Amino acid sequence: MGAPSHYPVRLVLFGAPGVGKGTQASALMGRFGVPHISTGDMLRAAIREGTPQGQQARDIVERGELVPDVLISEMIGERLRCEDVGTGFILDGFPRTVGQAEYLDRTLEGQGRRLDAVINLAVPEAVIAERLTGRRVCEACGTSFHLALRPPRLAGQCDVCGSELKQRADDSLYVIQGRLGVYARQTAPVLAYYGTRGVLREVDGVGTVEQVSERIEAVVARLSR
Ligand code: AMP
Repeated sequence: MGAPSHYPVRLVLFGAPGVGKGTQASALMGRFGVPHISTGDMLRAAIREGTPQGQQARDIVERGELVPDVLISEMIGERLRCEDVGTGFILDGFPRTVGQAEYLDRTLEGQGRRLDAVINLAVPEAVIAERLTGRRVCEACGTSFHLALRPPRLAGQCDVCGSELKQRADDSLYVIQGRLGVYARQTAPVLAYYGTRGVLREVDGVGTVEQVSERIEAVVARLSR
């Protein structure tokens, strides 16, 4: 396989909640030498810190709905101006609407950059529900675990930093169903947008973390440049 870390890699990891975007982005950021940018993590941090953006987003995120495009685009626009994205990035959870995808294209174009690929992680809905209800996240460092599939060494405690693991407020079965509906209505249309631009790649998201990472790396290694 080639050595993707030798050149900038600008990727979007795309798919419904629970397909493994965050897990894969964390696994691949070291491999590609680029930052993992998660809009969900940015929003949760803003909510914890009580910033004006966090206050505006809190109830919306807890209900599993999408925050307004203008709010999230402002946050991501600022992040994409940081120096560390010069080597590339892995976006996780953005874009989630066609409006956000258009904003991303315009922003990158203004910087003389463009996306290399949008990786659509395909996972059946039954697997998604199982992954999300069992997910437990470290509030301090953000590492994700799963009660059955990736249990922590000590119950309820993060392997990386020792802090307490929590279930996300929006990972209850009721909210998950709503989030999947939001994905189908507002986010899935983004696939057609990227389909016409020739950057969309589909990857089977079922399997171990390592198996799925290898599939993504193989896709990136084959990108024509
Ligand atoms: P995630 O961690 O990606 O599942 O995101 C958690 C929640 O943050 C979502 O359910 C939305 O409420 C909000 N969110 C994250 N990214 C976006 C986005 N690109 N556009 C709108 N809302 C978002």
